[in-house]
Amino acid sequence: MRAHPAEFELLAPSTLPAVLSLLAHEPGEWLPIAGGTDVMVQYSAGKLPARKLVSIWNLPELRRIEISADEIHIGAGCTYSDLREHELINREFSLLSMSASWTGGIANQNRGTIGGNIVNASPAADSLPALLLYDTELLLVSVRGERRLPYANFHITYRKTQLAPDELIRAICLKRQFSGYYAHARKVGARNAQAIAKVCLAGLGRLAGDIVDDVRLAVGSVAPVPLRLSETERIIKGKPIDPQLIQLAKTAAAAEVRPIDDIRSTSRYRSAVVGNLVAEFLQQLSAKNAQSENKTKLLAQWNALRPDKAAEEILPCCGSKAWAREMAARRPILDEAALFAACDDVWTTLPESDWLEAFRSHPRIGDSHAPAAAPAQSSVWSSAEQQRVGAAGEDVKSALATGNREYEQKFGRIFIVCATGKSAPQILDILRRRLSNDEGTELREAAEQQRQIAHLRLRKWLSA
Ligand SMILES: Cc1cc2nc3c(=O)[nH]c(=O)nc-3n(C[C@H](O)[C@H](O)[C@H](O)COP(=O)(O)OP(=O)(O)OC[C@H]3O[C@@H](n4cnc5c(N)ncnc54)[C@H](O)[C@@H]3O)c2cc1C
Repeated sequence: MRAHPAEFELLAPSTLPAVLSLLAHEPGEWLPIAGGTDVMVQYSAGKLPARKLVSIWNLPELRRIEISADEIHIGAGCTYSDLREHELINREFSLLSMSASWTGGIANQNRGTIGGNIVNASPAADSLPALLLYDTELLLVSVRGERRLPYANFHITYRKTQLAPDELIRAICLKRQFSGYYAHARKVGARNAQAIAKVCLAGLGRLAGDIVDDVRLAVGSVAPVPLRLSETERIIKGKPIDPQLIQLAKTAAAAEVRPIDDIRSTSRYRSAVVGNLVAEFLQQLSAKNAQSENKTKLLAQWNALRPDKAAEEILPCCGSKAWAREMAARRPILDEAALFAACDDVWTTLPESDWLEAFRSHPRIGDSHAPAAAPAQSSVWSSAEQQRVGAAGEDVKSALATGNREYEQKFGRIFIVCATGKSAPQILDILRRRLSNDEGTELREAAEQQRQIAHLRLRKWLSA
C-alpha cells in the first residue's frame, strides 16, 4: 500500500560530495532520485524500497557532457532530451539518440535520465542494448573514490546490479570508434512511444566491400538482462550478405534469446520478432552499402567538375561563396567523412563576413521560402527544414514572429537555428534563450547551427 508523503524524508544537497557523504553515512537507507520517472511510479505502487530520498536532479557534476579526442563522457543525470539535442551524440552514437527519441513522451524525455534507466535495470529499458554495443564503461563514484566498470558486467541478473549502496553512477563513458558503422535500432511495442518494448534491437554493422567486417547486435525484453547476440554475430562476421546468410542469422538469433510469456507478449512471438529484426538489419546494411557506392560515384563526378561548376553545385549546402570555392579547391574529396571534415575546417576558418553571407541565404524561422538571391535548391531544402514550424499553432507562430523581431533588432541579422527535427515550441525556447546572449556568444552559436545545417544538407546532396 502507498505510504503517506509525510512518512518520507527528501533532501536535495547542492553538491555531489554532500550526496555521497549522505549515502556513505547510512548505506542503503537513502534512495537517490534523479528525474523520478521510475521512482514516482514505484511510490504510487507502494513499492519504494526506502523512506529517505536524496535528490540528485540537476547536480552539475552529473549533467555534463565531456568530449575528448578518444572518448565522450555523458553525465548520468543527462536527460533523453539532452541526448537527442547533442550534435556529437547524434553523429557518433546515434543508437542512443534514436532510443531516446522513443522513450516515453516529450515530458518523460525532459525528465528521465540515462543513469536512472541503467540503475532501474528493467530488461525492457530502451537505451541499454545500445550501451552494450558501444563497449560502454560506467564511472561509479562514492566517498571511497571512483571506479570504472564495463557496462556489460553491470546487470548481474533480473533487476540486480553491481552498484554498491553508497555509490552513484557519475558518467557513461563511450569510446569514439563507431563513426564508420551503420547504426540501426528498432522497438516493437503496442505503439512507438509511451509503450514498453515487447522486443527492442540495436545493431551496428561495418562492411569492407561486400563482406561484413564487423557486426554488433543486442536485444532487450527477451532475457532477464539486455543480451548481446554473440553467436549470431559470429555467424554473420566475415561473410557477404545474401539470402542464405540472412536466413541463417534469423534462425540463430531466434534461438539465442530466452524470452518469457508475459502480459505484453508470448515467448514464441518474441523469438520470431528477434529473428525478423536481425534479418531486417542485414537487409538495410546491404542497402546502405549500395547507397554508399552511389555517394562515392557522386563525389567522383563532382571531383571531375571545373572549379567554378563544383563551387556552384555545393553552394546551396552552406550559402557562403567563399566556403563553396574553398571546398572546390580542396578536391579530390574521396569519401563522406573527408567531405564533412573539409566542411568543418573551411567553415570555422572563414571570416565573419562569410558567415553572415551564409546566414542571409536562409529564410527567417516561420517563413518557409529562402531569399530570392538564394540558390533554388536552398529554397527547397529550407521548406523541408521548416516543415514542423509550418504546422505549429497560431500562438506559437505569433510568438516566433515577435521573437524574430526582437532578435533582428538586437543582433541586426536573422536568427539561425538547425530546425530539422525540432518542433516549433522547442525552437521558440531556443530563440528566447539566445536573445540573452552577448554578440560574440550569439555569433558563435549561430555559426555552430549553420555548420549543423551544412552537414544535413551535404547528406541530402550526397543522397540525391
Ligand atoms: C510515462 C512513462 C513512460 C516511460 N517510457 C519508457 C520507455 O519508453 N522506455 C524506457 O526505457 N523507459 C521508460 N520509462 C521509464 C523511465 O522514464 C526511465 O527508466 C528513466 O530513464 C528513469 O530515469 P529517472 O531519472 O527518472 O530515474 P529515477 O526514477 O529518478 O530513478 C530510477 C532508479 O535509478 C536510481 N538512480 C537514478 N540515477 C542514478 C545515478 N546517477 N546513480 C545511481 N542510481 C541512480 C534511483 O535511485 C532509482 O533506483 C517511462 C516512465 C514513465 C513514467
